Order: sequence, then C-alpha cells, then structure tokens
Amino acid sequence: MQLQSKLPHVGLTIFTQMSQLASAHGALNLSQGFPDFDAPDALKDAVQRHVQAGHNQYAPMTGIAALREQVASKIARLYRNPVCAEQEVTITPGATQALFCAIQTLVRVGDEVIVFDPCYDSYEPAVTLAGGRCVHIALNSPDFSVDWQIFADALTERTRLVIINSPHNPSGALLRQADLNQLADLIRERDIYLLSDEVYEHLVFDGQLHSSVLAHEELYQRACVVSSFGKTYHVTGWKTGYMVAPPALTEELRKVHQYVSFCAVTPLQYALADFMQAQPEHVDQLPAFYQHKRDQLCQALQYSRFTFVPTASTYFQLLDYRNIRDDLNDVQMAHWLTTEHGVASIPLSVFYQRPPTEQYLLRVCFAKRAQTLELAGEKLCAI
Ligand code: PMP
Ligand code: GLN
Repeated sequence: MQLQSKLPHVGLTIFTQMSQLASAHGALNLSQGFPDFDAPDALKDAVQRHVQAGHNQYAPMTGIAALREQVASKIARLYRNPVCAEQEVTITPGATQALFCAIQTLVRVGDEVIVFDPCYDSYEPAVTLAGGRCVHIALNSPDFSVDWQIFADALTERTRLVIINSPHNPSGALLRQADLNQLADLIRERDIYLLSDEVYEHLVFDGQLHSSVLAHEELYQRACVVSSFGKTYHVTGWKTGYMVAPPALTEELRKVHQYVSFCAVTPLQYALADFMQAQPEHVDQLPAFYQHKRDQLCQALQYSRFTFVPTASTYFQLLDYRNIRDDLNDVQMAHWLTTEHGVASIPLSVFYQRPPTEQYLLRVCFAKRAQTLELAGEKLCAI
C-alpha cells in the first residue's frame, strides 16, 4: 500500500529543526519561542494542590466554569466586551488546537482563506486538511503593516475566512484600530469570517495598546478570537488555551472541539483559574516585564553588527544580518550562527509562500533569564 500524503509539502517544523540543531551543538536556544525561566510558584503549587485534591478526571467539554469565568471577566475588564462565560468561552488544549478547530468549523472544500505572510506555520496545514486554499498576502516591508488595497483585490466569491495575528509572530508588528476598521469595511457585505490569533495579547510595549477583535463590536460578531495561557503565564508546555466567539459560532466550534480532544487537562485548568483569581494584576505587569527583557537584549546588541528596530510586541526581536553575511540566505545564516557561533534563531523566509528577495532577517526569542540574554549578547557581538 502506498499512503498518499494529505500534507505532501509539510516536514518537521522550523521550531523543531532549530531546537534540535541548538541542542546538538550546545547552542543558546533563542529559536523556538518559550521562556527559559520557570512559571510562578503559586501556579505550580496550585497544580499540585488540585492533583492531590483529586481533580484528575475529564473536565467539562467546554472547560471548567471557574476558568471560563476568569477569562470572561478579564475580557470584560480589558476589552469592555461582556462575553458570556457559558456560551462564548471554550477552553482548549492549546491555542493550536483552537485554531485547528476554528478552521475545520469554518472552511469548506474549495473555500479561500486569506493569510498574511510571514504567517504562523500552523494555519495553512489546517486549511489544507479542511479542503480549503490559502491566499497569501505579503505584509509591507519593512514595517510589516497591511496593504488593505491588496487585501481588497484578493477578495473573491470564494473567500470564506481571514486569519489575522496581532501582536504578530514573527515580526512583533501590531494591527491598529484603523486596520480593524478597514477590515470591517471591506468584509461588511460579504459572508466572511474572521479568525484572530491573539496569543501575545499581553506582550505589547512602549505604552502602546493591543487592538483586540474582542473590543471591536462589529468584527466580533463574525469572529473567533484565540489566546494561549502558555504565553501569558510562562507555561508553554501546559498547552492550554481558549477560543471566544459569539454563541451561534461557539456552538459549532464546540462540535468540532468535542471530537478533536473533547476537553483540556483538568488540574491545569483549576490551577490557572485559581491564579487568575488571586493575581489578576499578572497580565497588567507583563508588558513591563517583557519590555525590560527586550531592552536588555537590544542594549546587549547595541555594538554588534546586527541592525534592528526594538520590537513593538511579542517576545521576539528581529535582527538584520546583512552587514555580516549577505552571501547567506536566512536559513543558511540561522544554521551558521547555531553551528559556528552557538546561538540558534529562526529564519523568516520559512513563514512566506514567496519569500522576499533582499531580506536578511532572523527572529530571536527574548523570553529568557538575564544571564541568558547577556551571554547571547556576548556571542552575537563577537561576530
Ligand atoms: N499562534 C501563534 C502566533 C504562536 O506563536 C503560537 C505559539 N507559539 C501559537 C499560536 C500556539 O499556542 P499554543 O502553544 O497555546 O498552542
Ligand atoms: N509558537 C512558537 C514559536 O513561534 C513555537 C511553537 C511550536 O514549536 N510549535 O516559536
């Protein structure tokens, strides 16, 4: 028998490749995005407490009520949207699973899905498996903003879904309120849904604000908004996230979710609910916490030969290496840096359908301890 692949163009993700290369060469791993510091003690203690208390069987399919209520009250506080915890919030095993469920719910065979390049790697395989086709629009260079005229020109009768991601991985660019208004204007008269990946919603710097689709009354009516506890609470390995959508859409999302995983991990949900209730200010402190790390990295690289603009959001910084090696493309450069200089990063071109020529950008993750950032600075300045 010969298995015909449903994803013939998919290999190991760049995150797995670069993390493996980093480990094989004992390099500092600034590639895959995850903290090298631990979760808050109160959160770890809460997991232990709930495991010991016997919260070890299936959670409700939609997520435990206490966590859904914490998410709803955070959304009401930050985005002034009084979402219903019962009918609009669903806890999922990771944002990736939520994105997958939303795409399977909304995309039918032959549908077109608009995505913006550089584009997070999990969207397109999910669209392909649903029988849809991604239409890629490149973000503007060098600021990664959206050209709404190109977007308008890309709309067809078959466009079913638009996927946006702000704060944006890998560039750290932000969509503004004016962008959301433009988007609303352009899809108002069409049967198009919106999937908004906002996993870095709390990592926005320099006093700027995150423009959430949850705060956009019109767009929210046709949207599924996805976030991840992993980024917000320094627990990427817990793979716990959530999706928020109006009741009728949530009903359909849950039909898929209940057969993809049924529910998310029980004691982790209890622990997150306790922590969110005890420390609602955690999310308000995150911008300063990560801005400090961004600034530490940028300062450490001040006298390096990399050029960069301090990132506006996320825990990723882009570095332009053209002054160092313009003879290498970014994939080659990421390998060279890892094997020869002991620092692993992520090349940007892998997130494009058609990588731009003359782009020499690598992404490094600064969700790291002070000493890791210092060491990274030393290694990168030595090049
Ligand atoms: N979307 C984006 C843009 C991400 O960067 C990530 C994770 N790194 C995810 C989704 C997935 O989040 P999770 O780990 O909760 O599945
Ligand atoms: N989202 C993380 C990143 O951008 C990686 C997650 C993964 O490894 N799939 O680095």
